Amino acid sequence: IKWTEGRGWHDAQLEPYAPLQIDPANMTLHYAQTIFEGLKAYRQTDGSVATFRPEENARRFQRSARRLAMPELPVETFIEAITLLVRQDEAWVPGVGEESLYLRPFMFATEVGLGVRPADEYLFMVIASPAGAYFPGGIKPVSVWLSEEYVRAAPGGTGEAKAGGNYAASLVAQAEAAEHGCDQVVWLDAIERRWIEEMGGMNLYFVEGSGPGARIVTPELTGTLLPGITRDSLLRIAEDLGYRTAEVRISTEDWERGNADGTITEVFACGTAAVITPVGSVKSARSRWTVGDGEPGEVTMRLREALLAVQTGRAEDRHGWLHRLA
Ligand code: PMP
Repeated sequence: IKWTEGRGWHDAQLEPYAPLQIDPANMTLHYAQTIFEGLKAYRQTDGSVATFRPEENARRFQRSARRLAMPELPVETFIEAITLLVRQDEAWVPGVGEESLYLRPFMFATEVGLGVRPADEYLFMVIASPAGAYFPGGIKPVSVWLSEEYVRAAPGGTGEAKAGGNYAASLVAQAEAAEHGCDQVVWLDAIERRWIEEMGGMNLYFVEGSGPGARIVTPELTGTLLPGITRDSLLRIAEDLGYRTAEVRISTEDWERGNADGTITEVFACGTAAVITPVGSVKSARSRWTVGDGEPGEVTMRLREALLAVQTGRAEDRHGWLHRLA
């Protein structure tokens, strides 16, 4: 569907997947007005297809649009677009399990011109791709690199938006993490470089204590990390399971100390792609440590199972989070 200044949204179409023709002076190529979302359509135990809290993706997409001076797509149009695509591609939705049809809604400027200003033409599209289980061979904890040199987002910047540029800015740190033998980057705040923000494409959670009395904490939303929908859902699922939860400020020293004295027992990352990923070890320029015994923790796995059960219709949807698409 297109948007043109003065005309608004128009010309919605369902088309076969095909390359786009791009003018060399397309404004997106130069000034990066581009935002996206990611969500998964899961086969439900009753045979239908549903996605998880798509209204939240639609609202986050609107907030991203405002931050990038782009037009807001109505929530209903966003939902209608993914519904049409999933109905068309229903044969690509795998059976019940961790496999899914990944949906990628995105919007970019289509105006041609070299002046730096908000474009007056945009295109919103959704593409889909079957996605396998994130850990086909069983859950494997990831190793993380604490990035002290590079930051992903600065106060007043676009860190809270799902804007393409945020990901471009993170690539060198991801390469640095790989050079240190780590799977993922953990981002710190831009000012003091000590407050934990989030991981490459996932939010972080820390488990304090163990068993039913465990407390589950996540870095508070500071304006420089992405407000993940999985993050938000887990706060409520954890409470439903009887755990205490909190949104806090947590520093790299808190993490290292808590790990050493046993107050922090498990750490995991969460997001649409990997659902929940245990963090097994941490490395920085100055230090390194193993999280707990380096294996997936009990609370982590319990939360993972509870979330996936809701997403695939195996558990009661007590918060009304599932949205049937087909
Ligand atoms: N942080 C970043 C930077 C991300 O790209 C993502 C993936 N959208 C997340 C966190 C997790 O968000 P969600 O749970 O909505 O997928």
